[in-house]
Amino acid sequence: FPRRGIRGNFVPPIRGSSGNNVGNVTSRTSGKGEDTLDDSTRRCLEMLVGPDGELPEKLRNIEPRLIEHISNEIMHRDPNVRWNDIAGLEHAKKCVTEMVIWPLLRPDIFKGCRSPGRGLLLFGPPGTGKTMIGKAIAGEAKATFFYISASSLTSKWIGEGEKLVRALFGVASCRQPAVIFVDEIDSLLSQRKSEGEHESSRRLKTQFLIEMEGFDNVSEQILLIEENLMVLFMETGATNRPQELDEAARRRLTKRLYVPLPSSEARAWIAKSLLEKDGLFKLSDDDIVSICKFTEGYSGSDMKNLVKDASMGPLREALRHGIEITKLKKEDMRPITLQDFESALQEVRPSVSLNELGAYEDWNKQFGSLA
Ligand code: ADP
Repeated sequence: FPRRGIRGNFVPPIRGSSGNNVGNVTSRTSGKGEDTLDDSTRRCLEMLVGPDGELPEKLRNIEPRLIEHISNEIMHRDPNVRWNDIAGLEHAKKCVTEMVIWPLLRPDIFKGCRSPGRGLLLFGPPGTGKTMIGKAIAGEAKATFFYISASSLTSKWIGEGEKLVRALFGVASCRQPAVIFVDEIDSLLSQRKSEGEHESSRRLKTQFLIEMEGFDNVSEQILLIEENLMVLFMETGATNRPQELDEAARRRLTKRLYVPLPSSEARAWIAKSLLEKDGLFKLSDDDIVSICKFTEGYSGSDMKNLVKDASMGPLREALRHGIEITKLKKEDMRPITLQDFESALQEVRPSVSLNELGAYEDWNKQFGSLA
């Protein structure tokens, strides 16, 4: 429950070393007066006070409502994805383990020569598991996961994007180790808009780069961040091409990992594990081989959509035989067959074009990290 001081103002839960010298968060934050903070905002701030009972320096000039938004909407304490949930991508998993997870788990070892890069770019066609990798990093390294869509900064947070970015990095630095996952980063960092680029988008881009530059500072506080905070940038989508990341941004993203379309084994694994999860897996090995053969070029999320569509087959058939949906029992439905997949293949087409794939592969040859 929120603790109140005299006059009902916020009092941080942890007292300063000098006994009753507790900080007053509301008086240090800008924007709202202390009386206008509601309980949920108060709770968010309480969770961020340091051992000295004060709100960390980085957060003192940030509006409480932005801190609250970051804490409630952007921050995920347990992203609930592990390596075992991700099919294939052995190369990416191995690289990420060495480059990101070990340093997050053992910052003391990853110093000096071994100090890790601060930016990681995962690029590749949409729906191939980049977001899953981000979540798994946080899950495996017991880090706090921050997920923000860069395009929401320009669409939803018009005019406030910079402030939100500052709040994001501020909260992340208090929640180390932290993984900041920026989706559709190219919408901010691309060259494309450079001519008629909107002023706000330019300022946002600068703010991102400043925050990342901050990691190079040697001041004590930032040094901590250097050891623990990983900024994970992600590239996704058809319009969002890595080719359009500008030079400055590319230099900061020192590791650039290609996340390709799933192999045939990975596609089989995705289909099987989705069906098994629901207790619906009754296909033979030959059926699975056929499904893999027909789904060349399908992404992980295409596979998911395919399974979804195929799993509707038995339901549609039962209803066609006159059973009412309200009276339908699970036993009334036959198992999912290869034919269900064959029909689904007509509905769910691969979402990534060959052209698009070629562009990713070219960029990988030119800029991708091999190890
Ligand atoms: P993106 O690469 O666009 O970030 P996501 O990681 O969000 O793609 O994947 C979208 C969905 O597709 C996931 O939630 C998952 O169900 C499925 N998927 C994609 N790739 C894989 C994979 N390699 N293993 C398991 N599921 C996957």
